Amino acid sequence: MHISTLPGIGPKRAQLLEQAGIPTVADLLNRFPRDYDDRSELRTVESLTPGAVQTIRGVLSQLPGNVPMPRRGAKPLTLTKAVLKDGTGTLELVWFNQPYLQKNFKAGREYIFTGAVRLGYNGRLQMQSPDYEIAGETALGAGRIVPLYTPPPGFSQKTFRALVHQGLSKVADFPDDLPAALRERHGLCHRAAAVRNIHFPESDAMFLEARRRLVFEELFFMQLALFEIKGRSAGQGGIVFGDVDTAPVIKQFSFTPTQAQEKVLAEIAADMQSGYTMNRLIQGDVGSGKTAVAMAAAYLAIKNGYQAAIMAPTEVLARQHFNGFSRLFAPLGIETALLAGSLSAASRKNALAHIGSGEARMIVGTHALVQPGVEYARLGLVITDEQHRFGVNQRLTLMEKGAAPHTLVMTATPIPRTLALILYGDLDISVIDALPPGRVPIKTYAVDSRYRPRVHSFIRKEVAAGRQAYIICPAIEEGEGDTHSVLQYTADARRALPGLAIACLHGRMKPAEKQAIMDAFCANRANVLISTTVIEVGIHVPNATLIVIENAERFGLSQLHQLRGRVGRGNEPSHCVLISDAKAPVTQARLQAMVDTTDGFALAEQDLEQRGAGDFFGTRQHGLPAFTIANLYRDMDILKEAQDAARIFHTTDSSISNREKMAVKNRLAQVL
Ligand code: ADP
Ligand code: MG
Repeated sequence: MHISTLPGIGPKRAQLLEQAGIPTVADLLNRFPRDYDDRSELRTVESLTPGAVQTIRGVLSQLPGNVPMPRRGAKPLTLTKAVLKDGTGTLELVWFNQPYLQKNFKAGREYIFTGAVRLGYNGRLQMQSPDYEIAGETALGAGRIVPLYTPPPGFSQKTFRALVHQGLSKVADFPDDLPAALRERHGLCHRAAAVRNIHFPESDAMFLEARRRLVFEELFFMQLALFEIKGRSAGQGGIVFGDVDTAPVIKQFSFTPTQAQEKVLAEIAADMQSGYTMNRLIQGDVGSGKTAVAMAAAYLAIKNGYQAAIMAPTEVLARQHFNGFSRLFAPLGIETALLAGSLSAASRKNALAHIGSGEARMIVGTHALVQPGVEYARLGLVITDEQHRFGVNQRLTLMEKGAAPHTLVMTATPIPRTLALILYGDLDISVIDALPPGRVPIKTYAVDSRYRPRVHSFIRKEVAAGRQAYIICPAIEEGEGDTHSVLQYTADARRALPGLAIACLHGRMKPAEKQAIMDAFCANRANVLISTTVIEVGIHVPNATLIVIENAERFGLSQLHQLRGRVGRGNEPSHCVLISDAKAPVTQARLQAMVDTTDGFALAEQDLEQRGAGDFFGTRQHGLPAFTIANLYRDMDILKEAQDAARIFHTTDSSISNREKMAVKNRLAQVL
């Protein structure tokens, strides 16, 4: 059902929604709220208490309208005022600098307002910048538990909320993909009721029931997909590679592989000869040399007459891999192709032709690799780097581009083993448990901002010695309070560090612009790179020996560890400086842990201990797939139930009709 079937959605708004990935009503209803505001309790003027956000219903008795309020040395503020009256008293409402609001109000009409109540200058209560709803109409934003969305561009919270509410009138038209017997067995409500209550909960209890049902559904289909893949690859028989001698490619490396790398390579070679399709997860700390393992594996596929593809989560990383792979493979007469979003039409066409004809044996790219229209001649090995950035389905789509290709997924993120087995049930696990020799351990310091001038002298010293530095800020633009932003910091640093070439990088730049800056930094044409965490995954510039992280308290331990991994990649000693003025003992302990150890696995464990499991599993940086609604820590019980249900369904379940089985299969096909 296309989104334009909803009243009030003309071509323009339909286009906005399509661009935001919401082409259908079903997509709209699957945009669950990011949070809720309980506005079910209506106050009276008498019962308001200053200091809290409250909701009140009453008639507007006076509308003084817009009043300019002069301010010394600044533009005057426009105050929009209104007075609300209920049976118990009157309350002044004010808005700042929103003069257009005035025309929305009519004296004598009844409204519902939600806002912060404060004591005004005149000693009377005042509600500031409240949200408003006309009482009587379906008041979506008050008198109930109100959903809060992340509205797509072009939509306000209020209009998007109204749109979802309209969408819900169609919810009965959508079937429930979970079989009735299964729902009954696990005490799950119907999908329509769940979707209604996840958006506009009738009560706390209904909300919890709705959430449980939707979490179960998400996890059930994920588990089923994993069983399905496992079953499929078991049935199919893997491509057998006769020649698994990696010596010729290893000879091209500028180093000798570590024992840890050799061990993992041997496991890969054994898989490739086994007659089964390889499904292997490679965990290895930052800098442990996963890329070299990927290269040797790719070489084997190519040598045996197949193509190999590696997918990276960002374009910067994809290009870096492209450079590395082509430099290694060109002398061996192997052509490498790059496929990424920002290629020119001509380059893209050329790349597609070479991939389709099989001239390109090694293919490097972003998720552009899995898009429709990309056809491979003979894909025998699929590698995903920094696996946690991709969903199960992206990995699977890439696999489907070949006939049961071998797959390797690589991650720097240590995941507790039990959890890994549940989540990556289809994968075998290899661990690269040692770093290449000769690495001088990175020295880490935790300091407060009084040390910044000294840190800047340190930067000058490193640059004078021909080396480079990163500075990481949490925000792009001028943030709140004392949060450092890339743009402001860059302006300041250009003044504080005259004579140095300072570049800046952040996620809002166009891919080509980002690439140009990365290229300049790689070529040492920039001495200092000031960046957000866009550089966090995989970036490799061995000449960078110093990383300064501002507002270090803003980052999780694993993320700090990833960031620190950007240095210490060459033979020179490297340093990491964490700057933070946060004094909370937890924060101090976290930063101290960074100072004390460079072992990513140990840090992940501490992270778990210090921040609590909820936070650990709640964030995306931990190697866990992204879910719409499930939270693996909170929902561990549901995960186990869903896993059992999926296992039973996958084998045979006679209580489920064929029609229902078809529904599940169809849905699964979408997940896959
Ligand atoms: P990661 O595991 O974080 O992806 P990379 O694969 O980027 O790490 O490797 C980091 C650096 O270590 C690269 O410069 C790579 O050439 C180098 N390297 C990899 N293996 C070895 C080794 N056995 N001996 C020395 N250097 C190595
Ligand atoms: Mg890497």
